[in-house]
Amino acid sequence: MGRYHNFSAGPAALPLPVLEEANRELLDFGHGASILETSHRSAEFTGVLDEANDSLRALASIPETHDILWLQGGASMQFAMVPLNFLKLGQVGTYVMTGTWSDKALVEGNLVGETAVAASSKETGYDHIPAVETWDVPENAAFVHTTSNNTIFGTQFAEFPADVGAPLVCDMSSDILCRPTDFSAFDLVYAGAQKNLGPSGVTLAIVRKSWMEESRTDISKFLRYATHSEKGSTYNTPPVYPIYLVGKVLKWLAAEGGLEAMHVQNQAKAKRVYDLIDENSGFFKGHAREGSRSIMNITFNLPSPELEAKFVAEAQSAGLVGLKGHRSVGGIRASIYNAVPPESVEALAAFMERFLLEN
Ligand code: PMP
Repeated sequence: MGRYHNFSAGPAALPLPVLEEANRELLDFGHGASILETSHRSAEFTGVLDEANDSLRALASIPETHDILWLQGGASMQFAMVPLNFLKLGQVGTYVMTGTWSDKALVEGNLVGETAVAASSKETGYDHIPAVETWDVPENAAFVHTTSNNTIFGTQFAEFPADVGAPLVCDMSSDILCRPTDFSAFDLVYAGAQKNLGPSGVTLAIVRKSWMEESRTDISKFLRYATHSEKGSTYNTPPVYPIYLVGKVLKWLAAEGGLEAMHVQNQAKAKRVYDLIDENSGFFKGHAREGSRSIMNITFNLPSPELEAKFVAEAQSAGLVGLKGHRSVGGIRASIYNAVPPESVEALAAFMERFLLEN
């Protein structure tokens, strides 16, 4: 059986050259053993970790003011760690609500302290990113929490606010490194790896050091960013294999021309599908509003749930997998992360054109 066109939302497609290299190195990554059986305290793994840090810093221009941390617990644990570390008495954890994931982040904030909603697109089915001018940020905001890309609804920030009057936090789980980003504008960015970075099992956090120094000390030691920073992401046994694979994905990104080149390719991939949707809007109904459309997750509906089921089933038979919308919203979702090649998107577009004609 050949490899199918993978439109899964995550864990998602990985670059084939990365998988091939990891496959070649599985039994021996150059040190007489598999990375899977190598101590996280060894010089060999330290080399892997240092290389991942250096590659990320260079590729994404992460400033020296910020620390790079490799954590566990997924992006979901970040929903808890953010307020636990940074929401203090007398302050308000402030959230911009753009989908299911920000809903979940807010739930954790509420368990820790006082929260506020700065803006929300819930009333219109999370079909857009509320304009920054409409955000209502309390004066005593501890932080403003945002979600750059909404994996389920298919919306994405086109640009980020310059100054929200409080530390800016962003969940970039589903679009990190899809485009050049000024990380110095954020105080904390986090991302589960399993979409654009590598396999599941490791979560990247990019934290402004000066803010981390002000974080709370009255919480579990393990849940403090500072703990992991002080120990260079090896406070406890880190996920060595996911970090090793992320390192390879970062090198692949650099070899592909870096984030500018990736952005150009991602825009072209997304345009191919959105153009088809727009040209046939009587049949394909895009969910996200113009201006908020994601270049990572394209969500749309067909005239009926029956046709949607038929679309997913026939696509699957044609080797196009992972197109069923999230169970909470239905419809169709095509996740076209960095590692989904343009040929897969072309195969999807051709399938959509054929399906339209036949139905
Ligand atoms: N945030 C976003 C934007 C996501 O897409 C997801 C997962 N799909 C999460 C958070 C939760 O991530 P995890 O499963 O790593 O906890």
